[in-house]
Amino acid sequence: MGESKQFRCPQCGYDFEAVTGVGFAFPQEYAETVAEMKHGGLGEEAKRFFEEHPDGAISCENVVMKCESCGEYDSRESLAMYVPKEGFVHRVPEGMWSVVAPFEGSDYVSPDELEACYDLYAEYPHKCENCGGKMKPAEIFSVDDLGNETLIRPLICPHCGAEMEEAGTFFWD
Ligand SMILES: [Zn+2]
Ligand SMILES: [Zn+2]
Repeated sequence: MGESKQFRCPQCGYDFEAVTGVGFAFPQEYAETVAEMKHGGLGEEAKRFFEEHPDGAISCENVVMKCESCGEYDSRESLAMYVPKEGFVHRVPEGMWSVVAPFEGSDYVSPDELEACYDLYAEYPHKCENCGGKMKPAEIFSVDDLGNETLIRPLICPHCGAEMEEAGTFFWD
């Protein structure tokens, strides 16, 4: 289940929705995204990654990104590229993804498996929609064992520089 936190600038009214986590259709989304990357639909770098690392994996978790040039925030699928740790061989997951959306027999690398058995190879080269600059994970939340998110650094409004305020949380799908 994903979480969404609304942030609002008290000074100029700019608002931004911080979407994190994965949804019910994760296994399907994972498979579609990998296929698109392999076909070059998500850029040359991602295509080359899968040519050079057929056993590679990606993160399909939603993360908050921040533009290094203009400071704009955006919520996107991470798409960071990972390679298996030495000696690890991925297998098609057994059992259900969830009761509501079982996806039995689907092949995907879950966020837990990715964290435990893979090493980060490269971040996906996200571009800012506002200025074309380079987007990087903002790492604004710390997550505890229960999945609760706590804001660890203030979000600064990219338009006026004021500290943004949290204006509500909801859960999606
Ligand atoms: Zn502002
Ligand atoms: Zn930008």
